[in-house]
Amino acid sequence: MITKLKELFKSLLLIELLQGLQVTGRYLFARKITVQYPDELTPISNRFRGLHALRRYPNGEERCIACKLCEAVCPAMAITIESDQRDDGTRRTTRYDIDLTKCIFCGFCEESCPVDSIVETRVFDYHGDKKSDLLYTKTMLLAVGDKHEAQIAADRAVDAKFR
Ligand code: SF4
Ligand code: SF4
Repeated sequence: MITKLKELFKSLLLIELLQGLQVTGRYLFARKITVQYPDELTPISNRFRGLHALRRYPNGEERCIACKLCEAVCPAMAITIESDQRDDGTRRTTRYDIDLTKCIFCGFCEESCPVDSIVETRVFDYHGDKKSDLLYTKTMLLAVGDKHEAQIAADRAVDAKFR
């Protein structure tokens, strides 16, 4: 009986409504943390696993030696590699595709690469209008690497300090 009277009293005085408004009021005057994307970005870790890239050495030579370790280790079977021997005896890929619709961004490919060729960049705002747009070819991956090499190198330098 007393409990019911208490509940009636609380509902007549709109106590719960006032408690709710108290929460609203607290956030109304709190410091705003809305980020004005894309003009502003939240901090990104140097180990962020975003869009893949294939890297080159400073002389322009592609790093990948077609060992296929990344293809073997990929749990999603998202990587397809074909390779051939060049006239100078070195082996290079003739095809390097990553199907980003399959990729789970686990990072195993970059962990397995002996020459730091395949890496995952900080790029996260890419998209495809259709499924085939997310099939990244060797040319596309090298272009991502060329565009972001400075950031990739800086990120890996930070990482190397902790290894
Ligand atoms: S990040 Fe993982 S799933 Fe994606 S391609 Fe690399 S190994 Fe495969
Ligand atoms: S990207 Fe690295 S792991 Fe993959 S085939 Fe090339 S050298 Fe081997």
